[in-house]
This record gives sequence, structure tokens and C-alpha cells, in this order.
Amino acid sequence: MDDTVTHVPSPPLVYKQRMIQRCAVCGDKLLDINLNGDEVQPAHPDGELVRFKNRKSVKIMGEYERFNNVPPDFCIVLVEN
Ligand SMILES: [Zn+2]
Repeated sequence: MDDTVTHVPSPPLVYKQRMIQRCAVCGDKLLDINLNGDEVQPAHPDGELVRFKNRKSVKIMGEYERFNNVPPDFCIVLVEN
């Protein structure tokens, strides 16, 4: 497995002109963008298993609750190791 990690994004929060989104499991910051900037990207779908590589999302794998087995790069595994 290459250097990927799968998070479960929480709903994004807007504070002043920033949109911030963290992982609901490990707390890692997944998005922090200036809403007045040139490159406004959409938030990651919250409650889904989203795989990241080099801090960018590469795959959406479906709702967390529907998984009986989380992927081997699930972030909580990394946190608890
Ligand atoms: Zn995480």
C-alpha cells in the first residue's frame, strides 16, 4: 500500500472567510481554504470514507456506516499504532 490514508470528513465549518473541515475520527485537518481565494474547492463529502494521497482526496468509497471492515489505511489504525 502506498502512502494513502482514509478519513471520514466531518461537516465543514465556515469561520469568517475560511472553510475548515476535519476528520471525524482522528481530527486531522482535511480542508482549510480562503473562500475569497481564487481556488475555492468544494468540501469533501461528510460521513463518507475518503482516501487521501499527498493531502488530496483520490477516492470516495461510500458511507462509513455501510462498511463492516474499514480499509487497511484507515486513519484510526494509524493513530492507535
Ligand atoms: Zn482521520
